[in-house]
Amino acid sequence: MLSKIVIANRGEIALRILRACREMGISTVAVHSSADRDLKHVRLADESVCIGPPQSAQSYLNIPAVISAAEVTDAVGIHPGYGFLSENADFAEQVEKSGFIFIGPSPKTIRLMGDKVSAIAAMQEAGVPCVPGSDGVLDDNIDRNIQLAHDIGYPIIIKATGGGGGRGMRVVRSEAALLNAISLTRSEADAAFGNDQVYLEKYLENPRHIEFQVLADTHGHAIHLGERDCSMQRRHQKMIEEAPAPGLSKALRNKIGERCAQACINIGYRGAGTFEFLYEDGEFYFIEMNTRLQVEHPVTEFITGIDIVREQIRIAAGETLAYKQKDIHIKGHAIECRINAEDPDSFLPSPGVISRFHAPGGPGVRVDTHIYSGYRVPPYYDSMIGKLITYSNTRQSTISRMKMALHEIIIDGIKTNIPLHKTLMTDATFEEGGSNIHYLEKKLGMC
Ligand code: ADP
Repeated sequence: MLSKIVIANRGEIALRILRACREMGISTVAVHSSADRDLKHVRLADESVCIGPPQSAQSYLNIPAVISAAEVTDAVGIHPGYGFLSENADFAEQVEKSGFIFIGPSPKTIRLMGDKVSAIAAMQEAGVPCVPGSDGVLDDNIDRNIQLAHDIGYPIIIKATGGGGGRGMRVVRSEAALLNAISLTRSEADAAFGNDQVYLEKYLENPRHIEFQVLADTHGHAIHLGERDCSMQRRHQKMIEEAPAPGLSKALRNKIGERCAQACINIGYRGAGTFEFLYEDGEFYFIEMNTRLQVEHPVTEFITGIDIVREQIRIAAGETLAYKQKDIHIKGHAIECRINAEDPDSFLPSPGVISRFHAPGGPGVRVDTHIYSGYRVPPYYDSMIGKLITYSNTRQSTISRMKMALHEIIIDGIKTNIPLHKTLMTDATFEEGGSNIHYLEKKLGMC
């Protein structure tokens, strides 16, 4: 097993990784910015190294600083968490070249999946269903592009191959707007991602977002852990996630999940990963793969009983998967509410000192957070300060538990989106389950 791991992240996920390491008897090194000395995992880690000033670009995204920290502490592996450097192939490559183990897939796989066109091609080869589209990047042939869009059928969406974070996409509803939209997306993509390649896809009007969790080892084994429904989104940011997806049949789950696992074997995938799909009228359409741990992994841990972070570390250490597909049984229902330090009406960030914090508890309640009474939420990073996850036998009783937990939790001193979660837990459409990705924004009056 790995003897010492650098946790190259902050906040709740850094604490989550630290807890997994502690359980496994692995020493931990927290690397942090000068604004994060008081983070809970920094206090709990065996060692800590300040790697730069508050700005992420100079600390959490500073590749030489992270690698130097691993060198001076004699660490063996580096866990990137999510966000920051987690899907940066250059980082993974430098970690490996410097003689450390990157707890994630190979740099080559990260690169393959980071390019949306090559990712789609790899998925098609593995029989994973994709959105009907241009099957490759667009060239400058105007007539051919018009014909392509016509064949796919409007509305279509133009996407940048190197896009991410909901950027580099444009919906086109008629031929008249097509050419202008292609050149606009190209120049935006060039400026934002240094790559002006774009492709076309059918635009699905009212899909749900359903994603499959996979685990793959370095010995040719891959399994899926079922799916999560993450359709409750605002500006492409997930707010509530749940597992399993309401109304999805076991047969369809197994069919799509097995294809994802097969795709992992085909591309030589290693570690934990997520296949994101849009789901409409009973059909799945692959949109992208996330080659890292997801924020919403706890809902899957609840329904499968598997510790995904532990598995990531075991796989990185070269061990074989501890489970076969037949060992995976999905049981009960789990829901996660992301708790953000923000105004629940304006969504403006609300950093500051947490004067009082009380965590909820009881059966089937999990709180993943780094906050404590007296902790100051810095203004420099993502506004998510924790996740509240509940689990029970049925979706209905899981919602009841979430209502109870939201009622019990106290975070004073800053504004949070807890009031919004309370409203959503009593929303008739949410209670029914299966709403599409536009529902939350419509409810909030944004469309
Ligand atoms: P990113 O890498 O920027 O997250 P994705 O390809 O995952 O980009 O797409 C982000 C979001 O954009 C999706 O969750 C969905 O809401 C919307 N989207 C992407 N592709 C389509 C499509 N073909 N039809 C409808 N909506 C889409």
